[in-house]
Amino acid sequence: MAERNRSYRTQAVILRRRDYRDADRILTVFTPRLGKLQLIAKGIRKTTSRKAGHLELFTHTSLQVAQARTWDIITEAVTVESFRHLRQDLGRISRASYVCELVDRFTEEGDENQLLWDLLLLALRQLDQGESELFLRWFELRLLSLTGFQPQIFRCLGCGDELQPVTNFLNLQAGGVFCPRCGEGQPGMEPVEKDVLKVLRHLQRSPWRKVQALSLRPQTLQAVEGILHRYLLTILERHLQSVDFLKRVRRQRQTAATDRTNPS
Ligand SMILES: [Zn+2]
Repeated sequence: MAERNRSYRTQAVILRRRDYRDADRILTVFTPRLGKLQLIAKGIRKTTSRKAGHLELFTHTSLQVAQARTWDIITEAVTVESFRHLRQDLGRISRASYVCELVDRFTEEGDENQLLWDLLLLALRQLDQGESELFLRWFELRLLSLTGFQPQIFRCLGCGDELQPVTNFLNLQAGGVFCPRCGEGQPGMEPVEKDVLKVLRHLQRSPWRKVQALSLRPQTLQAVEGILHRYLLTILERHLQSVDFLKRVRRQRQTAATDRTNPS
């Protein structure tokens, strides 16, 4: 029976890649209309490959792809945005890897998510320009919302009342915050200061341009980071069972902590 030789064109960001056979690579990419895909780039590790430079990690590229039985085959690749600054130092490489890995871990193959595509491109552009920690916190909350894991931080998860500007109680397993009446003294709760909750809410509901001018006390930013990372880990542990990734998130935290103590 003849193979149908159908092909399609798509934009893509390269999230992950691994070597395959002698000269090939399997790429995990994220696309605007087809969601996450695994594609094969044949012969890409040969020095003569003309596609190689267009299929680096984090690159925004335009692909021509031929359908095939196992992995669809990349037949043409042209760079749209190379984000070259992302590869200039370890801090940026680490942040770009973190963003790509979060998108990878929070998506299933073939689930279209145009808003997440927009978010990913925005993230790579901002990180390429040098945005760092506050941007990553905003990105984490936006990713959680777009993938169905938005924490409830406006109303009490117990009684439904609007949360007041006092010390409330966070329960990561429950996915949100409880008022003092419902949360105080209950198992799995931790106090969350009103300033920290205020920042989380601002990050969750505001576009990046309204957040970027925000100047925060280092302790507040650190508390926000701690909560978001532990919440991401709670979700990943429960839903995604990805121990390797958890280790890398922890390493990312350490890099972030080093960046804070050595501002460049
Ligand atoms: Zn309550």
